[in-house]
Amino acid sequence: MRTAASIKSRPLRATLHLSALRHNLAIARQHAPNSRILAVIKANAYGHGMLRAARALETADGFAVLNLSEAIHLRESGFRQFILLLEGIFSADELPELARHQIGCVIHATWQADAILDAGLAPEIPVWLKLNTGMNRLGLQVGDFESVLGRLQNAGARLTLMTHFSRADEPGGTCAQLARFEGMTSALALPRSMANSAALLSAPTTHADWVRPGIMLYGASPLDAPKYLNLLKPAMTLSSEIISIQSIQAGETVGYGDTFIAPCEMRVGTVACGYADGYPRHAPSGTPVLVYPQGAGRGCKADKSATTTLGGQRTRLIGRVSMDMLSVDLTNLPDARIGSPVTLWGQGLPVEEVAQAAGTISYELLCALAARVPVVEDEDG
Ligand SMILES: *Cc1c(COP(=O)(O)O)cnc(C)c1O
Repeated sequence: MRTAASIKSRPLRATLHLSALRHNLAIARQHAPNSRILAVIKANAYGHGMLRAARALETADGFAVLNLSEAIHLRESGFRQFILLLEGIFSADELPELARHQIGCVIHATWQADAILDAGLAPEIPVWLKLNTGMNRLGLQVGDFESVLGRLQNAGARLTLMTHFSRADEPGGTCAQLARFEGMTSALALPRSMANSAALLSAPTTHADWVRPGIMLYGASPLDAPKYLNLLKPAMTLSSEIISIQSIQAGETVGYGDTFIAPCEMRVGTVACGYADGYPRHAPSGTPVLVYPQGAGRGCKADKSATTTLGGQRTRLIGRVSMDMLSVDLTNLPDARIGSPVTLWGQGLPVEEVAQAAGTISYELLCALAARVPVVEDEDG
């Protein structure tokens, strides 16, 4: 008798490539050999699963998350590395827990400094004092910086100084903020941190004591330059299968709203993946999709070399993405059939390309992976 778990069901999967996470961390180390690495695993590790990512990235020097609950979950799961709350506390009530679990916090506003001083916890909690050098989102203004720094130092705080770049992904995009940060901090003998993934890869002058890579660890390039596409390995492959094929005549339409009108006789494949899975509904006709007509691809463990690139053929999304399905053009893939594997993004089809076609960024697609999508861990792929 078959158990429910062994019955083949909806074919959509997110395969998480743990060795790709390790590879991408190694690339970060190679680029910033003299800096410590704070692996950013906020937003459920950009959709990859916080604990899973932390385990794969355990040789990082620290982890950055958003919420106290996430930090405590990491501690209770046995992680002893440095942990930083990227936006610090949201209320003074959180401070005793930070001290108890030895969790560091960003201080980006004077009220947070007041709270930690009032609680008498400045020596207990590692503090990353954040300066606003031009992004104008979080961070102390120049005018407040020296007094806050002085009060924290007098209270015995263990300090690191940080800032965040608004356009590190553009050539020369770190220069102005770097100069401002240097001007405010270079005379101080304190550890410093500036670089996100884009600055880590392209602006070595920003590396300082700690780098803070996020997106690159997940194998998506923060920079447009093609050389970074080959350097990093995708940590997530979203894959499914063709579950229906329709042959249509010129003039017939595909999907809701009839937005796609066939210019000629066409073969249309229906793929089990929709916006309720995290695929962007605003992806237009033409967004790339990879189909494996010969059935290699996902789940073919016997011949791993064949799974990722051999036989995968690019085609395009057509019509509107629906909640559970999307349509692809199979007109030029006569061997594609029901059950043919499909890659939505990941190995063989960079998520950056799908994001660009959909008018968004890889970050948003990865983070939006829906909880209903089954996850498979791939140790060595
Ligand atoms: C999210 C975040 C990062 C990581 O950015 P990537 O572009 O994903 O590398 C670094 N620093 C701060 C403060 C962040 O919020």
